[in-house]
Amino acid sequence: MSFNIANKRITVIGLQKSGLAAAQLAAMNGANVFVSDLIENEITKKNYQELTKNNINCEIGKHTDQIFKSDLWVVSPGVPKNVKIIKKAQSLNIQIMGEIEFASMFTSLPIIAVTGSNGKSTTVNILYNMLKNSNHEPILVGNIGIPFSSAVNELNQKLIKGTIFILEVSSFQLEFIDQFHPYISLFLNISPDHLDRHKNMTEYIRTKLSMVKNMTNDDFVIFNEDDKTLSTHFKNFIFQAIPYGLKGNNKFFSIKNSILYDKNNEPFFEIRKIRLKGQHNLSNLIASAIIAKILNIDESLIKNTMKNFEGINHRLEFVRKFSDVIYINDSKATNLSSVIAALNSFESPIILLLGGKNKDSNFRQLLPHTKRHVKHIVSFGEAGGEIATALGDAVRLKKTSSLSQAVASAHKVASPGDIVLMSPGCASFDQFKNFEHRGTKFKELVNRL
Ligand code: ADP
Repeated sequence: MSFNIANKRITVIGLQKSGLAAAQLAAMNGANVFVSDLIENEITKKNYQELTKNNINCEIGKHTDQIFKSDLWVVSPGVPKNVKIIKKAQSLNIQIMGEIEFASMFTSLPIIAVTGSNGKSTTVNILYNMLKNSNHEPILVGNIGIPFSSAVNELNQKLIKGTIFILEVSSFQLEFIDQFHPYISLFLNISPDHLDRHKNMTEYIRTKLSMVKNMTNDDFVIFNEDDKTLSTHFKNFIFQAIPYGLKGNNKFFSIKNSILYDKNNEPFFEIRKIRLKGQHNLSNLIASAIIAKILNIDESLIKNTMKNFEGINHRLEFVRKFSDVIYINDSKATNLSSVIAALNSFESPIILLLGGKNKDSNFRQLLPHTKRHVKHIVSFGEAGGEIATALGDAVRLKKTSSLSQAVASAHKVASPGDIVLMSPGCASFDQFKNFEHRGTKFKELVNRL
């Protein structure tokens, strides 16, 4: 690749997974690397040892002035762009890149970039499934899998024909986009998440859409036209963007009488055969199928995934049927849009477990969606009281303090035919390490009933 960083001074900010990978990629390409992370914890300590072992300089628990003696900064997604050190680096005219952009500078292999507020991990996994038995060699990178920098670093040492990156991209990873250039960009939806970090919705949208800024007519932009913000934006888009959705007649697929038709209006797939629950997942499947079509993937592989893909852990995950009550773990639902998607995925009466650390959501927005079949809410964790205040006058509600109390309480009120759905609509950091930890704990509690 043409990006020459030999002997350049590169500072990597952040020493978690992607910072470590970026530092290794930079060092491998001959740069003079310095890594700095304000946080000193188990992970950064371990990564510090790993790098110093290989003679890469780093510091943890502080940022010294050494970070500014640099030609280029690679900033990890965990670092907000409005912090003091970034502003100072900008005032010193230091070039700043995000980790995915930095990694992308070292590869000419095609990138499928998937972004959106909800459904990224599910969709990249669907895509991976559709492509894995084709003549493409898909590699899952970004948020969901290995850091992009690690994959690029490894691949440059043994190039495999047909390799294509499936990159899950969060809006945080797009904050410093300058030259990043995916071959296919998919926009799933834009909903008000992470407003605690992005100043406002306008900035959030602008950040997300920066993904297409380097795309040309040879590339593909695919967007969900059922999402108002996306359809408004892409209507006047300079390149031809491909819409998809559950309504209307789209270029690749349309739906009539529960059958998915292809662009020649031939029946393609019977929707009832899809295992994955929910209209939102049908939408994710259609988006993935369009990409697979663009890549000329065999129809049988697309249909196979449509039929057999069962979803990933912690997203509407079936846990257990006990005393005729179904328990579902949707711990990854950390915002209200995903809670709404979960509620709309079921017909039976629901006992909804809601709680955790509030991310600035207004829980009253759930009200219209609780009317149909939410018979009881059990709130828990830090936001438990706030949820009770917001929804307690409209739905039967029990406030508890911990997840184990919430599960016990849900079990007590559930009757045969009900669904106990943990779709918490909040971050997990009040009582858990992350959403996986919360989901695993939920499953343990349910399996012990
Ligand atoms: P992300 O990686 O964007 O966080 P996930 O695939 O991990 O997305 O799903 C997060 C949550 O959002 C889960 O609760 C899931 O059921 C829900 N979800 C998945 N796809 C969509 C969609 N298209 N629209 C709304 N919610 C969705």
